[in-house]
Amino acid sequence: MTIFSRIIAGEIPCHRVYEDEHVLAFLDIGPLSDGHLLVIPKEAKAQIHELSDESAAAIGRVLPRLARAVMQATGATAYNILQNNGAMAHQAVMHVHFHIIPRIGTSGLGVGWNAGKLEGARAADLVSRMKGALG
Ligand code: AMP
Repeated sequence: MTIFSRIIAGEIPCHRVYEDEHVLAFLDIGPLSDGHLLVIPKEAKAQIHELSDESAAAIGRVLPRLARAVMQATGATAYNILQNNGAMAHQAVMHVHFHIIPRIGTSGLGVGWNAGKLEGARAADLVSRMKGALG
């Protein structure tokens, strides 16, 4: 059981901003910037590819609304939505969560973006493999 399951169960307090049948949103305890919000499904799954369509849809339905609330509350006009999957991808809490991180001045998410170049043959191979996986 992760700390987020314990928050959902009410065993650990949080600064709750939003709750419905499938989703809970609360302030991140270690904010990268003022207003840093976490949005989590109540379904206890570690990574997003494990999530049910129902939970995924419920999160998708409220994310824009919650982003608007973060913007209005903080005055931020820019923000990042971050969703880490796996310890190698910087995931610390193994319960699916979306970060909404306002960019306020220099505070917010620092992004390293080491862009490569997409080659035609590799692109064709990837598209074919992904379409195969989607069935
Ligand atoms: P990640 O690296 O994507 O797994 O991020 C986990 C996030 O959860 C971090 O930003 C933590 O600050 C946050 N966090 C951990 N425990 C709590 C808690 N009890 N209440 C609120 N946020 C938490």
